[in-house]
Amino acid sequence: MLKPVTFTVGFGDFSSKIRQQRYSLVTNSRWKLWFLSLDAGKLSIWGFLLNVLLKVIFYTWTSPNSLIGSLLGLIGLLTGGRVQVREGCLEFFGGFVSRFLERLGTQGVAAMTLGHTILGQDRETLDIVRSHEQIHVTQYEKWGVLFIPVYLGCSAYLWLAGKDCYRDNPFEQQAYREEAPRIKN
Ligand SMILES: [Zn+2]
Repeated sequence: MLKPVTFTVGFGDFSSKIRQQRYSLVTNSRWKLWFLSLDAGKLSIWGFLLNVLLKVIFYTWTSPNSLIGSLLGLIGLLTGGRVQVREGCLEFFGGFVSRFLERLGTQGVAAMTLGHTILGQDRETLDIVRSHEQIHVTQYEKWGVLFIPVYLGCSAYLWLAGKDCYRDNPFEQQAYREEAPRIKN
């Protein structure tokens, strides 16, 4: 008998669509065969291992960004901040991290993603913005060390063209388009 045990892979994938798919671990006790299946279609163990290998490449590819986020987060930890692990990312909040975010832009920002780290004002804010920031994580996984220069380049171009360098930025537009709908009170 096949005994499916469904679980969600805890780290993000390179596309937000794949990220949301659930993996099922299926075992055939008679043949002692283990394989993994996706809800939509089947994925062999090799497919899964390839997925993990790609994941390692993506984490490495954007690690300089994650390092910057971790250093800012570490200063946060030394100044009363906290850290938690959510969806394959280190989330830092409080302490220096909150004060740093409050000084960004004209009126401060709620959160900011740097590779596989997310800096947030506080735990509640992170819960609200997580799905948006996770889209940025997939963008970092695609662009790696090029993400920040390309993002800022887009913003500079938009600013020179007299447009909104945040809302009109294609990276933000994708994040707002693909983030989970927020629950309206
Ligand atoms: Zn954003």
